[in-house]
Amino acid sequence: MADSPPAAEVVRTTCCIAGGGPAGVMLGFLLARAGVDVFVLEKHRDFLRDFRGDTIHPSTLEVMHELGLLDEFLRLPHQEVRQLQGVIGDTSIRIADFTHLPTRCRFIALMPQWDFLNFLAEKARRYPSFHLRMQAEATDLIEDGGRVTGLRATTPARTLVAQADLVVGADGRHSTVRRCAGLEVEDIGAPIDVLWMRLPRRPSDGTAPLGRFGAGKIFITLDRGDYWQCAYVIPKGGFDEIKAKGLDAFRAAVAEIAPQFGDRVRELGSWDDIKLLTVKIDRLRRWHRPGLLCIGDAAHAMSPVGGVGINLAVQDAVAAANILAAPLRAGTLRERDLAAVERRRRFPTRATQRMQVFMQNNLLRAVLASQAAPSPPWPLRLIGRYPLLQRIPARLVGMGFRPEHVRLPAVDP
Ligand SMILES: Cc1cc2nc3c(=O)[nH]c(=O)nc-3n(C[C@H](O)[C@H](O)[C@H](O)COP(=O)(O)OP(=O)(O)OC[C@H]3O[C@@H](n4cnc5c(N)ncnc54)[C@H](O)[C@@H]3O)c2cc1C
Repeated sequence: MADSPPAAEVVRTTCCIAGGGPAGVMLGFLLARAGVDVFVLEKHRDFLRDFRGDTIHPSTLEVMHELGLLDEFLRLPHQEVRQLQGVIGDTSIRIADFTHLPTRCRFIALMPQWDFLNFLAEKARRYPSFHLRMQAEATDLIEDGGRVTGLRATTPARTLVAQADLVVGADGRHSTVRRCAGLEVEDIGAPIDVLWMRLPRRPSDGTAPLGRFGAGKIFITLDRGDYWQCAYVIPKGGFDEIKAKGLDAFRAAVAEIAPQFGDRVRELGSWDDIKLLTVKIDRLRRWHRPGLLCIGDAAHAMSPVGGVGINLAVQDAVAAANILAAPLRAGTLRERDLAAVERRRRFPTRATQRMQVFMQNNLLRAVLASQAAPSPPWPLRLIGRYPLLQRIPARLVGMGFRPEHVRLPAVDP
């Protein structure tokens, strides 16, 4: 006789979050800290994924301070970036200076995203109402009379049915939740893709500019201690053409734009060492439905320009927790509470995306199309000449528009 499939596991919770990225884990932590029962479902078995954003901005560090976790957090291995330098054609320009920000940490911390997420998850586990399920992939929503009342997920053992007062889609830019919810996506478009790679860092290397802009080429370097995390920006959809020219041609192109690394481009042994990030900028026209809210990349995929995706995701989580914890605890959640989260976060999202589109269209696209070494556009020349102006991009990138603050008191773990 054939074995019958195992019965589904049914859990009842107040808030079920699909996605254990920065948005989902931070929201889960904040809600549990405020006494709300919460399940976070993450489809992978761990947080270990390469080439996800590794930039923790001053606004997120401020949140960590407000949570009383900053000192311990900064004991994890990280690098600190206080100024951003770019080389455009032959001109070196300081683009941003974080050292004057009105905040506790006047730097960007570079830290692997899995360290950040493991740290948050570990702190969240102190609260008995926090439940994190790894290898649980949300597959569809459960609805009752037009209201979302839970979701179904696959796990290695059996189907998980999570019944919840609120389902949150924090499952990233390919969100299953937003697709199942039928939420309409507005595609803003991006003219670039990015190839990510690592190059070894030698003790004699010293510093490197964040960005190099040469004839038809853009190369970004982040100091990660024993290696350089590098991004080679290409025109949208251009990876196949680059591959067709062969790996030697690609290595030569990297060595040309970043001669400092010419002696180690052979470390790029195969195309497997080069990861394509298909850049997207989009956003939902409406972030919510009765019983359901999307936040982070699931609500708005960000371009890597400015490295702000993680921080926007964290800010969404803080705003959502501030607004939703009380009605969730009291069992009085209404759709207008979800609308309040969207209202709060819509302006920072749109303003940040507008800034990214401006940079894409006015700098990146022009540089990629150029045959000769580009010269800096006048706003950058101005910023380079007057150090006071370097505080403006630092503020926009480091703090973002309308930074959020933790307003919820913690319950005893
Ligand atoms: C290659 C790359 C480089 C980037 N570099 C930077 C950078 O330097 N700085 C920066 O700030 N941002 C960067 N970003 C963007 C940044 O990673 C995102 O903006 C940020 O992680 C968004 O957080 P999130 O929690 O909304 O979504 P994500 O980080 O995408 O997290 C979503 C989570 O949901 C999980 N998931 C997906 N589907 C399901 C499902 N059905 N069920 C359960 N779980 C699911 C995923 O496994 C993932 O863990 C980069 C992105 C990429 C792809």
